[in-house]
Amino acid sequence: MSESLRLSRRTLLASAGAGALTASVPGRAAAAGPDEAPSGPSEAREVDVAIVGAGLTGLTAARQLKQAGRSVHVVEADDRVGGRVWTVDAADGTPVNWGATFVGPQQTRILGLAKELGVGTYKTFNTGKNVQFFNGNRKTYQGTIPAVDLGSLLELNTLMSRLNGHASSLDPAAPWAEPRAKEWDAQTFYTWIRTNARSTQTHKLLDLACLSLFSVESQEIPLLHVLFYIRSAGSLQVLLNTGNAAQEQQFDGGSQRIPELMAAQLGDDAVTLSSPVRRVVTDGDRTIVHGDGVTVSAKRVIVAVPPPMIPRISFEPGLSALKDQLCQRSPMGSVGKAVAVYDRPFWRAKGLTGQATSDTGPVKITFDISPGSGTPGVMMGFVDGQDAREFGVTSLADRRAAVLEQFTTWFGPEAASPKEYLDVHWDSLEFHRGCPVAVPQPGAITGYKGALSAPEGALHFACTETATRWSGYMDGAVQAGEVVAAQVGAAL
Ligand SMILES: Cc1cc2nc3c(=O)[nH]c(=O)nc-3n(C[C@H](O)[C@H](O)[C@H](O)COP(=O)(O)OP(=O)(O)OC[C@H]3O[C@@H](n4cnc5c(N)ncnc54)[C@H](O)[C@@H]3O)c2cc1C
Repeated sequence: MSESLRLSRRTLLASAGAGALTASVPGRAAAAGPDEAPSGPSEAREVDVAIVGAGLTGLTAARQLKQAGRSVHVVEADDRVGGRVWTVDAADGTPVNWGATFVGPQQTRILGLAKELGVGTYKTFNTGKNVQFFNGNRKTYQGTIPAVDLGSLLELNTLMSRLNGHASSLDPAAPWAEPRAKEWDAQTFYTWIRTNARSTQTHKLLDLACLSLFSVESQEIPLLHVLFYIRSAGSLQVLLNTGNAAQEQQFDGGSQRIPELMAAQLGDDAVTLSSPVRRVVTDGDRTIVHGDGVTVSAKRVIVAVPPPMIPRISFEPGLSALKDQLCQRSPMGSVGKAVAVYDRPFWRAKGLTGQATSDTGPVKITFDISPGSGTPGVMMGFVDGQDAREFGVTSLADRRAAVLEQFTTWFGPEAASPKEYLDVHWDSLEFHRGCPVAVPQPGAITGYKGALSAPEGALHFACTETATRWSGYMDGAVQAGEVVAAQVGAAL
């Protein structure tokens, strides 16, 4: 692998503004920001297919097209490949995933890709009891049944079955075509929960499920999109659970090894980093991609960036109104991650999994993300939705204190003194502006239908958001890359 690709994983984006939180990892260098773009003459390239974005979607498409004998060039804004798959090293060298972490046995595309690349997996620690912190009370429970009263449990079970049932009636390639789609698209998940559940415990649990899946509050997402997500994964349980579900495994050495190895296979010459694409101009049978320091002339272009990032590029001729407006109606979720590194995962000896749920922030969900070897102990807390918005404007000292206080309440006094604390705020990162996934607003799915993935002239569009299987996940990104590669291959 080239030095530039290998080093890029260990660098961080420049801060989006004075005092703004992007990622706090002591001792790491900041890369040049977009205003410090290379000033030399632009390098000119000519290929069959130019790809904007070196996330899993763009790299999958590049890899497949190259294997089919096409020439490709990938232009990436960040100083690293991987996009929403980003691994940094803690001070002791332990890999910490800032972005995608977990993979489940149902996610056969990303698992197959990892196997092909020689990246192994290990099981997320899931032995013992989980912690639940509701109304200021700490309780523990075993397995997947939360510590709430029987009435709430029965209600939760009924509603989860109803959601799965509604979801199963959707065609994941055309959720707008379901006869009840408009009705489901016209209400938020918040409204649906409160219309259908009487127990405030059920409200809390479903609100938390929403935060954990989309990093948005339940009032920010239409029921139809929740149903689409469930359909694209298989069931709500497979999305939410750990064992035999989406959180079951993690990648040895960190998830970013996968895009790094993919980029290395493509070769240094096929990827330009630190080059935000500003303009894409189609003139006759060529389309020119203008990045900082590079222009790529191609027969076809794959735009492999998330929906809100698409209209930030200037297209000539302009994007269709439908695609542009759908992108405007599909903002990213709000998310941060807070990580504490300990000499050992002390909670395991207390019979705890390290998984906690809370009705108060900043952290509302935790996982033990220690490496497969079991040391050091790494505790990760998700900061989602409104909590992420507040977290992003709080000082590092205050963030650290708030998170460690929560960890201490849930897991014991040892949590107060980690050997390192680090955190990230995706909303502040210039080429991401939130994560883990774009969330269409009420009315957008039925109003704009398939406009996101529709090709426009020589331009093709793909990202995990266009996937029909495991949309929003690494697995979905691989599927989206495969689909767009086939589409472009047929068009060339
Ligand atoms: C905090 C977090 C937790 C997650 N947890 C999980 C998980 O546990 N399991 C899981 O499967 N998935 C998880 N995900 C989701 C997963 O990371 C994504 O679904 C997947 O990586 C998306 O890949 P993509 O290629 O479609 O998009 P991206 O990874 O977003 O790739 C798009 C690329 O385009 C680049 N770009 C943007 N604008 C421009 C421009 N103008 N010019 C050039 N380049 C540009 C970006 O820098 C980026 O590299 C998580 C994501 C986050 C952030």
